[in-house]
Amino acid sequence: MRLVARPVGVPADECFELAEVDLPDPADGQLLVHNRYISVDPYMRGRMTDAKSYVPPFELGKAMEGGAIGEVVASASPDFAAGDLVIHNLGWRDLALVPAGGARKIEPTPGVSPSAHLGVLGMPGLTAYVGLLDIAEMKPGDTVFISGAAGAVGSVAGQIAKARGAARVVGSAGTPTKVAWLRENGFDAAFDYHDGPVRKLLKEAAPDGIDVYFDNVGGDHLEAAISALKPFGRAALCGAISSYNATEPPAGPNNLSLAVGKRLTLRGFIVTDHGRRMKDYLPEMAGWLREGTVRWQETVVDGLENATGAFRGLLAGENLGKMVVRLNG
Ligand code: NDP
Repeated sequence: MRLVARPVGVPADECFELAEVDLPDPADGQLLVHNRYISVDPYMRGRMTDAKSYVPPFELGKAMEGGAIGEVVASASPDFAAGDLVIHNLGWRDLALVPAGGARKIEPTPGVSPSAHLGVLGMPGLTAYVGLLDIAEMKPGDTVFISGAAGAVGSVAGQIAKARGAARVVGSAGTPTKVAWLRENGFDAAFDYHDGPVRKLLKEAAPDGIDVYFDNVGGDHLEAAISALKPFGRAALCGAISSYNATEPPAGPNNLSLAVGKRLTLRGFIVTDHGRRMKDYLPEMAGWLREGTVRWQETVVDGLENATGAFRGLLAGENLGKMVVRLNG
Protein backbone atom coordinates (compact mmCIF):
# COMPACT_ATOMS: atom_id res chain seq x y z
CA MET A 1 0.00 0.00 0.00
CA ARG A 2 1.64 3.20 -1.20
CA LEU A 3 1.13 6.78 -0.15
CA VAL A 4 0.68 8.72 -3.40
CA ALA A 5 -0.52 12.12 -2.08
CA ARG A 6 -0.16 13.89 1.26
CA PRO A 7 -3.55 14.03 2.99
CA VAL A 8 -5.15 17.23 4.22
CA GLY A 9 -7.62 16.48 7.00
CA VAL A 10 -8.99 12.93 7.04
CA PRO A 11 -6.80 10.79 4.71
CA ALA A 12 -8.91 10.13 1.59
CA ASP A 13 -8.76 6.97 -0.54
CA GLU A 14 -7.11 9.01 -3.32
CA CYS A 15 -4.01 9.41 -1.13
CA PHE A 16 -3.27 5.67 -1.33
CA GLU A 17 -2.63 3.11 -4.04
CA LEU A 18 -2.58 -0.66 -3.74
CA ALA A 19 0.16 -1.84 -6.10
CA GLU A 20 1.39 -5.26 -7.16
CA VAL A 21 5.11 -5.79 -7.63
CA ASP A 22 7.31 -8.83 -8.20
CA LEU A 23 9.77 -9.44 -5.40
CA PRO A 24 13.17 -11.05 -6.07
CA ASP A 25 14.45 -13.94 -3.95
CA PRO A 26 16.05 -12.71 -0.72
CA ALA A 27 19.64 -11.52 -1.19
CA ASP A 28 22.34 -12.33 1.34
CA GLY A 29 21.19 -11.18 4.81
CA GLN A 30 17.54 -10.78 3.78
CA LEU A 31 14.34 -12.64 4.67
CA LEU A 32 11.19 -12.99 2.64
CA VAL A 33 8.37 -12.60 5.15
CA HIS A 34 4.70 -13.30 4.63
CA ASN A 35 2.95 -10.76 6.82
CA ARG A 36 0.05 -12.09 8.93
CA TYR A 37 -0.83 -8.96 10.90
CA ILE A 38 0.02 -5.36 10.22
CA SER A 39 -0.37 -2.48 12.62
CA VAL A 40 -2.14 0.81 12.01
CA ASP A 41 -1.10 3.44 14.56
CA PRO A 42 -1.91 7.13 15.11
CA TYR A 43 1.74 8.22 14.60
CA MET A 44 1.43 7.16 10.95
CA ARG A 45 -0.81 10.18 10.34
CA GLY A 46 2.20 12.36 11.15
CA ARG A 47 4.38 10.41 8.70
CA MET A 48 1.85 11.05 5.92
CA THR A 49 2.64 14.77 6.05
CA ASP A 50 6.06 16.21 5.27
CA ALA A 51 6.32 18.29 8.45
CA LYS A 52 9.53 17.97 10.46
CA SER A 53 9.09 15.35 13.18
CA TYR A 54 10.90 12.73 15.20
CA VAL A 55 10.38 10.21 12.36
CA PRO A 56 10.87 11.02 8.66
CA PRO A 57 7.76 11.29 6.46
CA PHE A 58 6.61 8.38 4.29
CA GLU A 59 7.99 8.78 0.78
CA LEU A 60 5.41 9.40 -1.92
CA GLY A 61 5.07 6.51 -4.38
CA LYS A 62 6.65 3.99 -1.99
CA ALA A 63 5.01 1.35 0.17
CA MET A 64 4.40 2.69 3.67
CA GLU A 65 6.09 1.18 6.72
CA GLY A 66 4.88 0.09 10.13
CA GLY A 67 4.87 -2.73 12.62
CA ALA A 68 4.11 -6.18 11.22
CA ILE A 69 4.13 -9.80 12.30
CA GLY A 70 4.83 -12.42 9.69
CA GLU A 71 6.20 -15.84 8.87
CA VAL A 72 9.57 -16.26 7.20
CA VAL A 73 9.02 -18.06 3.90
CA ALA A 74 12.63 -17.90 2.66
CA SER A 75 15.77 -16.94 4.52
CA ALA A 76 19.22 -15.90 3.30
CA SER A 77 20.38 -15.31 6.87
CA PRO A 78 21.90 -17.97 9.17
CA ASP A 79 19.89 -16.50 12.07
CA PHE A 80 16.43 -17.24 10.65
CA ALA A 81 14.73 -20.22 9.04
CA ALA A 82 11.56 -20.70 7.02
CA GLY A 83 8.63 -20.98 9.42
CA ASP A 84 10.02 -18.53 12.01
CA LEU A 85 7.52 -15.97 13.27
CA VAL A 86 9.08 -12.49 13.24
CA ILE A 87 8.19 -8.89 14.08
CA HIS A 88 9.60 -6.16 11.84
CA ASN A 89 8.76 -2.72 10.48
CA LEU A 90 7.77 -3.39 6.86
CA GLY A 91 4.02 -3.46 7.25
CA TRP A 92 1.39 -2.22 4.78
CA ARG A 93 2.30 -5.11 2.41
CA ASP A 94 1.55 -8.84 2.07
CA LEU A 95 5.12 -9.92 1.47
CA ALA A 96 8.20 -8.08 2.63
CA LEU A 97 11.92 -8.37 1.92
CA VAL A 98 13.26 -7.67 5.38
CA PRO A 99 16.93 -7.16 6.34
CA ALA A 100 17.68 -9.77 9.02
CA GLY A 101 18.87 -6.98 11.34
CA GLY A 102 15.41 -5.42 11.19
CA ALA A 103 13.57 -8.58 12.29
CA ARG A 104 13.18 -10.19 15.71
CA LYS A 105 11.96 -13.73 16.33
CA ILE A 106 8.77 -14.23 18.31
CA GLU A 107 8.15 -17.42 20.24
CA PRO A 108 4.58 -18.57 19.57
CA THR A 109 2.65 -18.71 22.89
CA PRO A 110 -0.34 -21.08 23.08
CA GLY A 111 -3.57 -19.11 23.43
CA VAL A 112 -1.92 -15.77 22.56
CA SER A 113 -2.47 -14.32 19.09
CA PRO A 114 0.79 -13.22 17.47
CA SER A 115 -0.93 -9.84 16.96
CA ALA A 116 -0.51 -9.19 20.70
CA HIS A 117 3.12 -8.30 19.86
CA LEU A 118 1.78 -5.25 17.99
CA GLY A 119 -0.24 -4.28 21.06
CA VAL A 120 -0.08 -5.32 24.68
CA LEU A 121 3.23 -7.18 24.27
CA GLY A 122 4.69 -4.55 21.96
CA MET A 123 5.06 -0.81 21.39
CA PRO A 124 1.66 0.38 22.70
CA GLY A 125 1.98 -1.68 25.90
CA LEU A 126 5.47 -0.34 26.58
CA THR A 127 4.20 3.19 25.90
CA ALA A 128 1.57 2.76 28.60
CA TYR A 129 4.10 1.38 31.10
CA VAL A 130 6.83 3.96 30.52
CA GLY A 131 4.42 6.88 30.30
CA LEU A 132 2.66 6.01 33.51
CA LEU A 133 5.54 4.80 35.68
CA ASP A 134 8.66 6.58 34.37
CA ILE A 135 7.32 9.81 32.89
CA ALA A 136 4.35 10.56 35.18
CA GLU A 137 5.95 8.68 38.08
CA MET A 138 2.68 7.22 39.29
CA LYS A 139 2.77 6.09 42.93
CA PRO A 140 0.47 3.75 44.87
CA GLY A 141 -2.46 5.74 46.22
CA ASP A 142 -2.54 8.22 43.29
CA THR A 143 -5.71 9.23 41.48
CA VAL A 144 -5.05 8.82 37.77
CA PHE A 145 -6.90 10.15 34.73
CA ILE A 146 -6.36 8.57 31.31
CA SER A 147 -7.78 9.97 28.06
CA GLY A 148 -8.22 7.78 25.01
CA ALA A 149 -8.70 5.15 27.68
CA ALA A 150 -10.32 2.45 25.52
CA GLY A 151 -7.54 2.43 22.93
CA ALA A 152 -4.38 0.35 22.64
CA VAL A 153 -2.25 2.50 24.95
CA GLY A 154 -4.97 3.89 27.22
CA SER A 155 -6.64 0.57 28.03
CA VAL A 156 -3.32 -0.88 29.14
CA ALA A 157 -2.25 2.26 31.01
CA GLY A 158 -5.44 2.25 33.11
CA GLN A 159 -5.08 -1.39 34.05
CA ILE A 160 -1.38 -1.00 34.87
CA ALA A 161 -2.31 1.93 37.13
CA LYS A 162 -4.69 -0.31 39.07
CA ALA A 163 -2.21 -3.19 39.16
CA ARG A 164 0.47 -0.84 40.56
CA GLY A 165 -1.79 0.42 43.33
CA ALA A 166 -3.53 3.56 42.08
CA ALA A 167 -6.34 4.51 44.46
CA ARG A 168 -8.68 5.64 41.70
CA VAL A 169 -8.44 5.41 37.92
CA VAL A 170 -10.70 7.48 35.68
CA GLY A 171 -10.92 7.00 31.91
CA SER A 172 -12.52 8.94 29.09
CA ALA A 173 -13.59 7.49 25.75
CA GLY A 174 -15.89 8.24 22.85
CA THR A 175 -18.78 5.77 23.01
CA PRO A 176 -21.08 4.22 25.66
CA THR A 177 -19.79 0.74 24.73
CA LYS A 178 -16.22 1.81 25.44
CA VAL A 179 -17.23 3.44 28.71
CA ALA A 180 -18.95 0.20 29.76
CA TRP A 181 -15.82 -1.78 28.82
CA LEU A 182 -13.67 0.51 30.97
CA ARG A 183 -15.96 0.10 33.95
CA GLU A 184 -15.84 -3.68 33.54
CA ASN A 185 -12.06 -3.71 33.23
CA GLY A 186 -10.63 -2.08 36.27
CA PHE A 187 -11.41 1.62 35.80
CA ASP A 188 -13.18 3.03 38.87
CA ALA A 189 -14.98 5.65 36.81
CA ALA A 190 -15.34 6.39 33.13
CA PHE A 191 -17.16 8.93 30.99
CA ASP A 192 -18.02 9.59 27.35
CA TYR A 193 -16.44 12.92 26.46
CA HIS A 194 -19.36 13.67 24.13
CA ASP A 195 -21.65 13.96 27.17
CA GLY A 196 -20.54 17.48 28.17
CA PRO A 197 -17.47 19.63 28.81
CA VAL A 198 -14.56 17.38 29.78
CA ARG A 199 -13.72 19.69 32.67
CA LYS A 200 -17.17 19.11 34.20
CA LEU A 201 -17.20 15.35 33.53
CA LEU A 202 -13.75 14.95 35.04
CA LYS A 203 -14.72 16.97 38.11
CA GLU A 204 -17.67 14.61 38.67
CA ALA A 205 -15.48 11.52 38.22
CA ALA A 206 -12.61 12.79 40.39
CA PRO A 207 -14.09 15.39 42.77
CA ASP A 208 -10.91 15.57 44.87
CA GLY A 209 -8.65 16.15 41.87
CA ILE A 210 -6.04 13.98 40.18
CA ASP A 211 -2.35 13.28 40.86
CA VAL A 212 -1.48 11.92 37.42
CA TYR A 213 -2.77 12.54 33.90
CA PHE A 214 -1.90 10.27 30.95
CA ASP A 215 -2.63 12.39 27.88
CA ASN A 216 -3.48 10.64 24.61
CA VAL A 217 -5.79 13.34 23.32
CA GLY A 218 -4.58 16.91 24.00
CA GLY A 219 -6.94 19.89 23.53
CA ASP A 220 -9.92 20.03 25.87
CA HIS A 221 -8.77 16.91 27.72
CA LEU A 222 -5.39 18.42 28.57
CA GLU A 223 -7.04 21.64 29.62
CA ALA A 224 -9.44 19.78 31.93
CA ALA A 225 -6.59 17.77 33.40
CA ILE A 226 -4.50 20.88 34.13
CA SER A 227 -7.48 22.23 36.07
CA ALA A 228 -7.96 18.96 37.95
CA LEU A 229 -4.32 18.22 38.77
CA LYS A 230 -3.41 18.66 42.42
CA PRO A 231 -0.28 20.58 43.48
CA PHE A 232 2.84 18.72 42.30
CA GLY A 233 0.68 16.70 39.89
CA ARG A 234 2.37 15.03 36.91
CA ALA A 235 1.20 14.57 33.33
CA ALA A 236 2.72 12.25 30.73
CA LEU A 237 2.14 13.88 27.34
CA CYS A 238 1.88 10.82 25.11
CA GLY A 239 -0.19 12.05 22.17
CA ALA A 240 -2.71 14.63 21.03
CA ILE A 241 -4.98 12.66 18.73
CA SER A 242 -7.73 15.29 18.78
CA SER A 243 -5.58 17.39 16.45
CA TYR A 244 -4.06 14.80 14.09
CA ASN A 245 -6.52 15.41 11.23
CA ALA A 246 -6.92 19.12 12.05
CA THR A 247 -6.43 21.56 9.18
CA GLU A 248 -6.05 24.57 11.51
CA PRO A 249 -3.71 24.80 14.52
CA PRO A 250 -5.69 23.60 17.56
CA ALA A 251 -6.54 26.00 20.39
CA GLY A 252 -4.03 25.33 23.14
CA PRO A 253 -5.09 24.71 26.75
CA ASN A 254 -6.14 28.18 27.97
CA ASN A 255 -5.07 27.47 31.56
CA LEU A 256 -1.41 26.53 31.20
CA SER A 257 -0.41 29.24 33.67
CA LEU A 258 -1.98 27.11 36.43
CA ALA A 259 1.05 24.83 36.04
CA VAL A 260 3.19 27.46 37.77
CA GLY A 261 1.27 27.88 40.99
CA LYS A 262 0.47 24.18 41.20
CA ARG A 263 4.12 23.22 40.46
CA LEU A 264 2.96 20.76 37.80
CA THR A 265 5.23 18.57 35.72
CA LEU A 266 4.00 18.20 32.11
CA ARG A 267 6.43 15.92 30.32
CA GLY A 268 6.39 14.62 26.74
CA PHE A 269 8.03 11.37 25.71
CA ILE A 270 8.57 9.05 22.75
CA VAL A 271 8.53 5.33 23.49
CA THR A 272 11.42 4.51 21.15
CA ASP A 273 13.76 6.26 23.61
CA HIS A 274 12.75 3.72 26.27
CA GLY A 275 13.29 0.36 24.57
CA ARG A 276 15.55 -0.76 27.43
CA ARG A 277 12.44 -0.95 29.67
CA MET A 278 10.98 -3.79 27.58
CA LYS A 279 12.94 -6.31 29.67
CA ASP A 280 11.16 -5.07 32.81
CA TYR A 281 7.79 -4.60 31.16
CA LEU A 282 7.32 -7.95 29.43
CA PRO A 283 7.66 -10.25 32.47
CA GLU A 284 5.50 -7.98 34.61
CA MET A 285 2.79 -7.77 31.93
CA ALA A 286 2.99 -11.55 31.30
CA GLY A 287 2.19 -12.06 34.99
CA TRP A 288 -0.73 -9.62 34.93
CA LEU A 289 -2.16 -11.30 31.83
CA ARG A 290 -1.78 -14.75 33.38
CA GLU A 291 -3.53 -13.69 36.60
CA GLY A 292 -6.24 -11.85 34.67
CA THR A 293 -5.24 -8.52 36.27
CA VAL A 294 -4.97 -7.02 32.78
CA ARG A 295 -7.41 -7.88 30.00
CA TRP A 296 -6.41 -7.32 26.45
CA GLN A 297 -8.66 -6.24 23.62
CA GLU A 298 -8.17 -5.77 19.90
CA THR A 299 -10.22 -4.83 16.85
CA VAL A 300 -9.35 -6.84 13.75
CA VAL A 301 -9.98 -5.73 10.15
CA ASP A 302 -9.34 -8.23 7.35
CA GLY A 303 -7.40 -7.58 4.16
CA LEU A 304 -4.68 -5.21 3.01
CA GLU A 305 -7.24 -3.53 0.73
CA ASN A 306 -9.09 -2.47 3.89
CA ALA A 307 -6.02 -1.20 5.77
CA THR A 308 -6.52 2.47 4.88
CA GLY A 309 -10.15 2.19 6.04
CA ALA A 310 -8.89 0.63 9.28
CA PHE A 311 -6.46 3.51 9.68
CA ARG A 312 -9.21 6.10 9.16
CA GLY A 313 -11.39 4.09 11.55
CA LEU A 314 -8.65 4.20 14.19
CA LEU A 315 -8.56 8.00 14.05
CA ALA A 316 -12.37 8.10 14.14
CA GLY A 317 -12.61 5.82 17.18
CA GLU A 318 -13.92 2.63 15.53
CA ASN A 319 -11.51 0.50 17.57
CA LEU A 320 -11.77 -0.92 21.05
CA GLY A 321 -8.23 -1.79 22.12
CA LYS A 322 -5.56 -2.19 19.46
CA MET A 323 -6.54 -1.84 15.80
CA VAL A 324 -4.79 -4.45 13.63
CA VAL A 325 -5.20 -5.64 10.06
CA ARG A 326 -5.11 -9.40 9.40
CA LEU A 327 -3.73 -10.59 6.08
CA ASN A 328 -4.71 -13.97 4.72
CA GLY A 329 -3.78 -16.00 1.69
P1 NDP B 1 -5.93 4.25 20.11
O1 NDP B 1 -6.07 2.78 20.09
O2 NDP B 1 -6.20 4.97 21.38
O3 NDP B 1 -6.82 4.83 18.96
C1 NDP B 1 -7.06 6.16 18.80
C2 NDP B 1 -8.30 6.59 19.61
O4 NDP B 1 -8.31 8.00 19.75
C3 NDP B 1 -9.61 6.28 18.91
O5 NDP B 1 -10.02 4.97 19.16
C4 NDP B 1 -10.54 7.33 19.46
O6 NDP B 1 -11.31 6.76 20.52
C5 NDP B 1 -9.62 8.40 20.05
N1 NDP B 1 -9.90 9.72 19.46
C6 NDP B 1 -9.91 10.08 18.15
N2 NDP B 1 -10.22 11.38 18.01
C7 NDP B 1 -10.43 11.85 19.27
C8 NDP B 1 -10.80 13.13 19.80
N3 NDP B 1 -11.02 14.20 18.99
N4 NDP B 1 -10.95 13.27 21.14
C9 NDP B 1 -10.74 12.22 21.97
N5 NDP B 1 -10.39 10.97 21.51
C10 NDP B 1 -10.23 10.81 20.18
O7 NDP B 1 -4.47 4.64 19.63
P2 NDP B 1 -3.12 4.28 20.39
O8 NDP B 1 -3.45 3.68 21.68
O9 NDP B 1 -2.22 3.57 19.46
O10 NDP B 1 -2.50 5.72 20.65
C11 NDP B 1 -3.06 6.56 21.67
C12 NDP B 1 -2.27 7.87 21.73
O11 NDP B 1 -0.94 7.56 22.10
C13 NDP B 1 -2.19 8.63 20.42
O12 NDP B 1 -2.25 10.01 20.69
C14 NDP B 1 -0.83 8.25 19.90
O13 NDP B 1 -0.32 9.21 19.00
C15 NDP B 1 -0.05 8.16 21.18
N6 NDP B 1 1.14 7.33 21.14
C16 NDP B 1 2.30 7.93 21.56
C17 NDP B 1 3.45 7.20 21.65
C18 NDP B 1 4.68 7.87 22.17
O14 NDP B 1 5.75 7.30 22.10
N7 NDP B 1 4.57 9.08 22.70
C19 NDP B 1 3.51 5.78 21.24
C20 NDP B 1 2.21 5.22 20.88
C21 NDP B 1 1.08 6.00 20.82
P3 NDP B 1 -12.65 7.43 21.10
O15 NDP B 1 -13.77 6.60 20.62
O16 NDP B 1 -12.42 7.33 22.55
O17 NDP B 1 -12.72 8.84 20.56
